[in-house]
Amino acid sequence: MPEPLLGLELVEIQQLLGTGQPRFRARQLYHALYSQRVLNLSDASALPRELRLKLASSYVVGAPVDENHFDSSDGSRRYLLRLSDGRSVEAVLMPEENRDTVCISTQVGCPVNCRFCLTALMGLERNLTAGEIVGQVTFIANRHKLDPSSARLNVVMMGMGEPLLNLDNTLKATRLLTDKAAVGMSPRRITVSTSGIIPKMRELARAEIRPKLAISLNASTDLQRREIMPITRKYPLADLMEACREYPLRPWEKLTFEYVLLRDFNDTEADARRVARLVGRLRAKVNLIALNPGPGIPFETPAPERLLAFQSIVRRAVPCFIRKPRGRDIYAACGQLKRMTAGEEALVNL
Ligand code: SAH
Ligand code: SF4
Repeated sequence: MPEPLLGLELVEIQQLLGTGQPRFRARQLYHALYSQRVLNLSDASALPRELRLKLASSYVVGAPVDENHFDSSDGSRRYLLRLSDGRSVEAVLMPEENRDTVCISTQVGCPVNCRFCLTALMGLERNLTAGEIVGQVTFIANRHKLDPSSARLNVVMMGMGEPLLNLDNTLKATRLLTDKAAVGMSPRRITVSTSGIIPKMRELARAEIRPKLAISLNASTDLQRREIMPITRKYPLADLMEACREYPLRPWEKLTFEYVLLRDFNDTEADARRVARLVGRLRAKVNLIALNPGPGIPFETPAPERLLAFQSIVRRAVPCFIRKPRGRDIYAACGQLKRMTAGEEALVNL
């Protein structure tokens, strides 16, 4: 099996090329992979033909392949991307007037088992490599002719998987996405979301190059959170909030808290007051998400008035926004990623 090049950092490419090549060759290949985003080695035209052929005997670019895609009536598009081992992950493009958001996956499936999330039903199949994480962005940028170095593009690591349980590859991908000689995005436009893996939040805090952090709060008491996020038994809410207080924010940065509202479970005014108390002293904002329902999910979506009432209370403490559901009709919205194919979708909609 040829090895993928996508995911290698510059030093790794230097090692791979060895001493037989002039030093600038590594930079040329790095540029071809991440700035030009070639799909085949034969398109890396800066490299001599001989070197391209030699590389092609053991390596491929290794970009993901469009296995299927689904268009929502709201303009978002869900891709099912095939990886080299035949498995697939989801990535979603959400175009807006002034920006484009790409939501990418970090694992195939997820081991965390939140009760309101469809990805949880898959369990964990495997971690994605750094190349497979970066590849989702380069694939979508290529396909939709988006310029990753422009301020329009945002990346959120909020697709399938728990990024902090695959932190090394998530950080490596972040370095490749932000290096000016590679994909060239600003770290301010990349957000990683976690269910609250506390030791890994501390490790993330120490990384020299790191995305912004979002925390899936989703409950206002320990008891309530345990019921919907079993990970709370291992990492209780009080400890999570302490880790948030200790988290070193950069001058321009705020913590984002995500809160999925589940009808008659965590959507009352008392919940909102507790959320306001929990986050009130932090430099933070809160994004409210109405549950995106799905087959096998034992919760319902609250009425829009509930969201507004909740927002008006949290807003007294910190900025609070209601996240617009995107791509619900194509199972592309938060927590709906489960590699649903058109056939399965049709069955669900019956
Ligand atoms: N594993 C990470 C990132 C992926 S989930 C995390 O949990 O943070 C991204 C976001 O989608 C999380 O905030 C999660 O709480 C939310 N989410 C999961 N299932 C959902 C659903 N059915 N409806 C709405 N939001 C959901
Ligand atoms: Fe995993 Fe996030 Fe879904 Fe929880 S919400 S199961 S952590 S993807």
